Amino acid sequence: MIAAVRGTHDILPGQVERWQYVERIARSLCDRYGYVEVRTPVIEREELFSKGTGETTDIVQKEMYSFTDKGGERITLRPEATPSMVRAFVEHSLEHALPAAKLYSMGPMFRYERPQKGRYRQFHQLDVEVFGLQDPAVDAEVIDLAWSLIESLGIPQAELVINSVGCANCRPQFQEALLKALGDDLPKLCADCQRRAQTNPLRIYDCKVPADQPIIDRLPHSVDYLCESCATHFAGVKAHLDTWEIPWKVSHRLVRGLDYYTRTTFEVLGQTLGAQNALLGGGRYDGLVKSLGGPDRTGIGFAAGMERLVLALPEGRGEESAPKVFVVAVGDDGRQEALKILRELRRAGLSAHMELEARSMKSQMKRADRVSARAAVIVGGDELSRGELTLRDMRAGEQTAIPRANVVHAVSAVLK
Ligand code: AMP
Repeated sequence: MIAAVRGTHDILPGQVERWQYVERIARSLCDRYGYVEVRTPVIEREELFSKGTGETTDIVQKEMYSFTDKGGERITLRPEATPSMVRAFVEHSLEHALPAAKLYSMGPMFRYERPQKGRYRQFHQLDVEVFGLQDPAVDAEVIDLAWSLIESLGIPQAELVINSVGCANCRPQFQEALLKALGDDLPKLCADCQRRAQTNPLRIYDCKVPADQPIIDRLPHSVDYLCESCATHFAGVKAHLDTWEIPWKVSHRLVRGLDYYTRTTFEVLGQTLGAQNALLGGGRYDGLVKSLGGPDRTGIGFAAGMERLVLALPEGRGEESAPKVFVVAVGDDGRQEALKILRELRRAGLSAHMELEARSMKSQMKRADRVSARAAVIVGGDELSRGELTLRDMRAGEQTAIPRANVVHAVSAVLK
């Protein structure tokens, strides 16, 4: 047997219904909030991510699935959606083509990470992006969509954390203050932090090494170094969240792992997931579109991990399926007529099933039970020659004779 690749998984019946439910809710919410779907390829040029996600990130340095294709081109299986969405926005001038550049996408992402519960090498994200709008109300609306997703799915005890990491004007002062505060403690931090201090000091806040934490806890906070316009913007975001009664907490450690974030960052954390507790995360990235060769347009968005949403979904959610009718054939004549009725019921929009290999009536009835059919239509014998069928209500255990011509109507009434 050839097993699935480490860190990848099949989504099988029993689980797939929960996935479909999450996807359905996500699509319907995006639609209600005015977002339109974009589907981008799974493969992109490697440089889209080295430039977009950022050379100094763990994703680009350690986690990408990249290869040279037969034409000699460097190709990457996308590790995240934002650079692809920016590329599509720029490549197709979507700001002119669409009434509003509010986009969403859903699909698989690939990162060479150490697999564990809630962390995989192929995983799926819902990705939401808005281009060209900078009012704090936009940040708040994106956060509202994220929060509404969690609420609509019924995920309990989720927590929204927000922060502002400033902009190109004020971030240098904060970085300087950070490095100054670290001072002589820098050599005591882990090797990753030493590297981060050189490349992107804010990311020291991402460190999970226990021995580093007392030092990191003493470092300054980005919100104390915001320039006036960033401070006003952040206050605006918080005020809008309050207007909509969305509960938030500031976490000064929320700098997020990617290089492109500016101003607002946010995450929703779940309580039931263990170590991998981030259900979704995102923020503003005002310089990214331009740095990828597009016009100078702001951007904000988030990505939600579908695996984690499915894991956090309460038991029983999304598991209800449409009630089924089972068509039971008696004898050869019955079988011909049963096949016709099967198709008629399906055409009428009902979930209709039948044993296609000829079996005894007893084993057909067993099968009807096995698929939890709500109704069975028994076709054949004397009744059929009288133009009638038997309709069995499987829950009530009652049988009635119905006219053949009336089958769709009579079955629908039982399935209700
Ligand atoms: P990121 O793109 O790293 O900001 O991640 C956004 C969301 O995607 C996270 O909050 C997780 O829910 C999910 N996610 C990220 N990496 C993985 C992974 N390796 N496996 C499963 N879900 C992930």
